[in-house]
Amino acid sequence: MAELWNPLLERMPRDRLERRQIRKFREQAVYVYENVPVFRRKLDRAGIVPEEIDSFEDIRAVPTTTKDELRRAQETGADDSDGSSGRTERATETRSTPYGELLAVEPEAVREYHQTSGTSGTPLRQADSGRDWEWWSDCWATVLWSQGIRPDDRVFFPFSYNVFVAFWAAHYACERIGAEVVPGGNLSSAERVQLMDDLEATVFMTTPTYALRLGEVAEQEGIDPAATSIERIVCAGEPGASVPGTKAKLEERWGATVHDHAGATETGAWGYSCEGDSLGLHFNEAQFLIEVVDDDGDPVEPGETGTLIVTPLDRHAQPYLRFEQRDRVRLEEPSACDCGRTFRLADGGVLGRDDDFTTVNGVLLSPTAVEDVVRQHDDVADEYKIVIDEHDEKESDVVTLISEAKTQDVETTRTELRHRLKQACGLSFRITLREQGALERPELKADRVVDQRVNHV
Ligand SMILES: [Zn+2]
Repeated sequence: MAELWNPLLERMPRDRLERRQIRKFREQAVYVYENVPVFRRKLDRAGIVPEEIDSFEDIRAVPTTTKDELRRAQETGADDSDGSSGRTERATETRSTPYGELLAVEPEAVREYHQTSGTSGTPLRQADSGRDWEWWSDCWATVLWSQGIRPDDRVFFPFSYNVFVAFWAAHYACERIGAEVVPGGNLSSAERVQLMDDLEATVFMTTPTYALRLGEVAEQEGIDPAATSIERIVCAGEPGASVPGTKAKLEERWGATVHDHAGATETGAWGYSCEGDSLGLHFNEAQFLIEVVDDDGDPVEPGETGTLIVTPLDRHAQPYLRFEQRDRVRLEEPSACDCGRTFRLADGGVLGRDDDFTTVNGVLLSPTAVEDVVRQHDDVADEYKIVIDEHDEKESDVVTLISEAKTQDVETTRTELRHRLKQACGLSFRITLREQGALERPELKADRVVDQRVNHV
């Protein structure tokens, strides 16, 4: 059995682990109540006495936190209901920081500035103290160690990290493990694959989209990716590394093991794949309270799908309780994996953002199900788009898959894709296959669903 980063926590018996979660949630709730006025007012309105939280049922009574609510508190210092009347002395004192009313510490305690990508609205600014930064790198070290990264690895980061936290935290986690780090920002894709090859890097970290792209670029440069020294690829930012078709394609192209991770600027690195036999992500239940809930906010049973509510249990400078992560996952018991961890799993990883799931002709369309079909077909290239239009002559919505054919026999490929998509998604697709290289190649994450329906919500 593989050595663990923190065997005590990662193999803690469930009853002890759950008692620890309740205790740490209570401590975090007390801390938030005492130090973040916007949340104190919210807890008061809900009638929550933080010191009295003593069960998961008590925790479920604590109101959830949304991203919009955080943005408002950061921009104006006002919360949802009582507007400017709730402004406190402390909020006035901290207005000179970029963090508005969300800062729980004195401004001088902030060590790191990061922000969300802003793909779904105004970016949220995130403050981290020195203690937070230690925590971030420990969470990421848990991810990387679980995936086999060791001090003798040379880890290549093919990105400029900018203000985004994930690669910074992973960089520091590599240092913590003792692995060598190569920051490969400000280079072209061709220069990156050349440098990885020259340096004999053993690991690189990326989005699945960019891992496929780098493989394509390597081949154009006359480098066989499978013949390079890359042994592991750590993916983040998109579901692909837990989608069987994409994972298999990446592993074959690079001759490497592909791992997945999930996290967010607001919450931290909460999920990771291991070297066990599961195709999914363990929740890091030592550092996070993870709830998977249905549309009514009730917990789902193992085997069922729901959305995530995440509470980081040790966040210091800008802490949140019960953050609505809006990622959709299928919950599984720890026994679904043979690695010995007692952490539950997201079976199949993150299935998509809640916003990515849309109903087409009464059927819920899963973007990762489409991805799996496309990536499993040998005669279809890596890139694709899903376009949804409304109202054909039968008054039905029309969903079109656009990709690229790698074969002359386009008609057979089209028929096969239509059949497999019908089986996987329960929907009839129109298939448009262009010539190879026709679609744009994204450099980081891909936005592959284009919903053109006027009344789409
Ligand atoms: Zn495992």
